[in-house]
Amino acid sequence: MAQAHHQSHNGVRVDRMIRDDSHFIVSVRRCGLCSQAFASVFTEYVDWVASQDAQYRTLLPITDAEADDLIAGRLSPHRVGALGHGRRHLQSDWPSGADEPSVYWGSGVFQVRQGF
Ligand SMILES: [Zn+2]
Repeated sequence: MAQAHHQSHNGVRVDRMIRDDSHFIVSVRRCGLCSQAFASVFTEYVDWVASQDAQYRTLLPITDAEADDLIAGRLSPHRVGALGHGRRHLQSDWPSGADEPSVYWGSGVFQVRQGF
């Protein structure tokens, strides 16, 4: 699932938006090369002081059945983190004050938090 060409958030296209709030965006995406499905979770925290909003993005490979469940509403976006058990996910962290995001592979269950 974690193929070499999945090393960036580019190349995976939005298949279906699940949540589209300004600070919490969840979508089902598909790789343009191998059509692997992904759950994408984007969370933003507004930095009212320095106006450098912190942004966090997680890209988790999911099965077609899990993608169907997300799209049909049988799987809550907040439960996506639990699917991370035993899998790798591409994480992009851009805390406020950093010049550029740090992108790395994480593994295991992760928390899905709603931004503000
Ligand atoms: Zn692919």
